[in-house]
Order: sequence, then C-alpha cells, then structure tokens
Amino acid sequence: MTQPSDPALAFPFLGGRPCLDFVATLGKRHAVPLERLPGPDALARWITEAGLAAEEGPVPVTARDLTEGRALREAVHRVVRSAMAGQEPDAADVRLVNEMASRPDLAPQLGPRRWTARHPARAALATVARDAVLLVGGPLLERVKECGNPGCSLLFLDDSQARRRRWCSMERCGNLAKVAGYRSRNRAAPRGEGTFGPRAEREQAKGCTSYASGAGDSCAWWDAVGSRWSSRRCDRPPRRRSPTSSRCASAPSRPR
Ligand SMILES: [Zn+2]
Repeated sequence: MTQPSDPALAFPFLGGRPCLDFVATLGKRHAVPLERLPGPDALARWITEAGLAAEEGPVPVTARDLTEGRALREAVHRVVRSAMAGQEPDAADVRLVNEMASRPDLAPQLGPRRWTARHPARAALATVARDAVLLVGGPLLERVKECGNPGCSLLFLDDSQARRRRWCSMERCGNLAKVAGYRSRNRAAPRGEGTFGPRAEREQAKGCTSYASGAGDSCAWWDAVGSRWSSRRCDRPPRRRSPTSSRCASAPSRPR
C-alpha cells in the first residue's frame, strides 16, 4: 500500500477505538481542517491500516463508499462530542449512525484472513458505525477525551490506570507541551521579578510553539501561570522568521 507523499496525510491511530481513529481522518478541526480522505484510495488505505480489510489486496472502494464514509465520520464526531458534553445528539446524525450500524459488518474468520464480507468497504464502515454505537451507549464514554493541545483536536479513549492522560500521545503533543512549558518558564522570570509579578504575567502567554503557519491556522502557547494551553486563530500572513526561531508568525512581540 503506497504511503502519502505529505506526512500530514498519514493516519493517526491513537484514539484507542476504530470509530475515534476514523474521526481523526479529518485533522486540525479547530483550525483549517485537514482532509486525510481526499479520494477512494485513501479510504481503502485507512481500512487496511485500521486492520478492517476483508480482502488480501487493496480494498475496492467506490466514490459512493467515500461519500458515505465521510458522512458517517462527521455524524460520529458530532454524536460523540454531544455525548461528551452531556447534550442530546442531533436526530439526523443518530439516524445515519444507526442505519450504517445496521448493515452487514465484517464477519470474523479463523486463520490468516481475519475478516470476510460481501462488500468489504461497506462492511468496514458498518463495523466503524457499530463501534461508535457501542462506545457512545456504553460505560467507556466517560473516558473519551480531547487532546490537550488545542492545535490537535484528536479524540482518544483514556485507558490509563489513573485516567489522567492529557495528550493523544506523548511523542506527538505531550513533548511539545513540555518543551513549550520549559521555554515559557525560562522567559517568564524577567530580571529581578522572579517567576510571578506583573511583568512575568505579561510574559506568560508568549511561548508560542509555532503551530500556526499562516492566516486561519491555529496558534498555541503554554500559559505557564495558568498551567494550561492557550490558543487563538492566526489572522496575519506568515512573517519571515529566522531559521532558529520556533515562534509563530503572529506571536506577540515581547514587551520592552
Ligand atoms: Zn494531540
């Protein structure tokens, strides 16, 4: 299976559930959404990488499968988000998820071939829809979280013992937070003022970590005083920056 030339189009499998991994095929939902399913081939690749392929070779995927898959993905996203917020989900979304969950799904097989299905792509989508129904209607819903990095938007199932997981993964977002926190702490203690104080507080939100590459993108920084991520939307075109700088183009300049 060929990999995408753009690494950003690689599928993240960090959700801990097939339905959450499928939702993550649309990335950066809080900024300019990144569509990782631009065509039927991409959906075929996701089905294989997700371990839901009922075929030896590439799974045949039609344009209709893609349209239905994207509609299912967005309905699952809205239903999960509503359930997380304790709100009633949209009736049309519930109907769509239920209808797709009622279709024939993948049948498990003993032996090297894990699944069989008459229509492999439709069965894989039905399996995703059933997974969403079981997640939203079951006790694991309370463990579903959104990554603490506001530039990420990935939903994941926190299966850790202490239930304190904050990031989709340490490598992807947790380490960025640590680095940003370290930079911010180093900056937030101007000469003679210590870590806190009026000037330090003015400095707190200047640790932009360069998520933004231009207008419309999302810019994030570590708020050292509040110990949390802050974000806002970039409204400026990218500015030339030095090769060593990691600051976002719209990061506010430091007060003199
Ligand atoms: Zn993340």
